[in-house]
Amino acid sequence: MQKALLLSIALLASPAAADTLIDNANGIQVGPDGQLQRFTGLLIGDDGKVVRVLKGERLKMPEGTRVVDAAGQTLLPGLIDAHGHVMGLGLALTQLDLTGTKSLAELQQRLKDYAAANPDLPWIVGRGWNQELWANKRFPTAGDLDAVVKDRPVWLERVDGHASVANSAAMKAAGVTAATKAPPGGRIENGLFVDAATVLVASKVPEPTPGLLDQALLKAHAMLLENGLTAVADMGTSPQDWAAMRRMYESGRLKLRNMSYAGGSDSLAAIAPDGPTAWLYGDRLHLGGIKLYADGALGSRGAWLKQPYADAPTRGLPLLTPAELSKQAGIAAGKGFQIAVHAIGDAANDMVLDAYEQLGSAQGDKRWRVEHAQIVDPADLKRFAADKVIASMQPVHQTSDRTMAEARLGPKRLDGAYAWQTLEKSGAKLALGSDFPVEHPNPFHGLAAGISRQGLDDQPPGGWRPWERLTLAQALAGFTRDAAWAGFAEQKFGSLEPGKWADFILIDRDVSAATPHDLARTKVLQTWVAGEKIWEATPETAR
Ligand SMILES: [Zn+2]
Repeated sequence: MQKALLLSIALLASPAAADTLIDNANGIQVGPDGQLQRFTGLLIGDDGKVVRVLKGERLKMPEGTRVVDAAGQTLLPGLIDAHGHVMGLGLALTQLDLTGTKSLAELQQRLKDYAAANPDLPWIVGRGWNQELWANKRFPTAGDLDAVVKDRPVWLERVDGHASVANSAAMKAAGVTAATKAPPGGRIENGLFVDAATVLVASKVPEPTPGLLDQALLKAHAMLLENGLTAVADMGTSPQDWAAMRRMYESGRLKLRNMSYAGGSDSLAAIAPDGPTAWLYGDRLHLGGIKLYADGALGSRGAWLKQPYADAPTRGLPLLTPAELSKQAGIAAGKGFQIAVHAIGDAANDMVLDAYEQLGSAQGDKRWRVEHAQIVDPADLKRFAADKVIASMQPVHQTSDRTMAEARLGPKRLDGAYAWQTLEKSGAKLALGSDFPVEHPNPFHGLAAGISRQGLDDQPPGGWRPWERLTLAQALAGFTRDAAWAGFAEQKFGSLEPGKWADFILIDRDVSAATPHDLARTKVLQTWVAGEKIWEATPETAR
């Protein structure tokens, strides 16, 4: 009786403005209570927003309604990467790709092939090498590159972006000689430039033209959409990036939502001198915050630690003094910007939390963020919740870096390393991402790592420090609802609810029933933004 009554109400309630019905879906999302929610379809208005989330009821739709039979496929809210580098990904897709090289010889071979294929390029710029994947783990040198390309500058960035290697022609072009001293916060060794020293050569690389930036954005967005992402937080937008984004959104060629954080105080002043921008192009582009760096990364020993590294006599380096950090964050906060600071080492995390406390992070609804929060002194973990600070973390960093982290830190300092569940239990909010192009942007890799603490190779058995695993609901929240909240966008997207944008994906498996191994191998079938299908798998992409 009750069922029949509900059905008749449903029939009467079919709204005239709705123009798309997604039916027969295995809908899964995280509800406001943090639990997994099930639903069977969506009614989408002609404005691209969700009118109604269906839970099994059949709707009688007016003539002309577009009905999409999801054929029982799993439907998720569009996934959100809470920390990526959109232009970095796009440019990487146009440059020499060195990711996954298994040896110096392989790097040299790829460099040789690329140089031969691009004879007109004045500089050869590449990225993605990681000497940790090579048998002897030796950093590459200028000599290693000279052996392959001598006639023009070569500049190759490490996978984490915190070190680059130059050939002799690049150093010559940059005016770097044996007498050149590295600036504070940097190091130069045999053509390897670390952290603050990279600017010596990087500043001499010819600027990408606006046309190249536009192409890079298109390539990046295409890759993100096919991986099931419908929104990203762009961590470190430059004025040139912003101008390219404005051009490309203006012309309607970009669909994915971009929450920008200006790359440093100068970029912020150039892009948005007075305060956060409006949400532009149908809530697709917004600059609401600033990204600052407290330290470097663990791989190049640039992360700033409280005690020396276990495998080298250094503590790493802060990239800002506490006074400078407080000053820059304070000025941005005074104009209403959200603050996001990169902190990897435990000393850097401590410094950022100190600055946030001084500036009153817990007062009001500020949602300030620590990017990575990778190695935190266990005594500092509870300060995230107390200071109302978001831990913006990347599950794939844990699986990629675990053996390196063990070597850099030794066994006794791992208790606050990648401590996801400890942070969750303390009441801190997590936002999850990949840090692309440092890691592949595929969010299913992150979800799988999040619930298993295992890499794509299923190692180590049982997961690394498995008590820090997340539940599927926690991990999915980190890539949807909470990632939107971390960008002040939870009223717009991040969950499928009436009044929010109909951003969603159809995928080839039920994530709630998949093993971590299978979850990581999920294939995206369709990606929709604002009620519009903007990407669909083809036989070639379905591989
Ligand atoms: Zn990053």
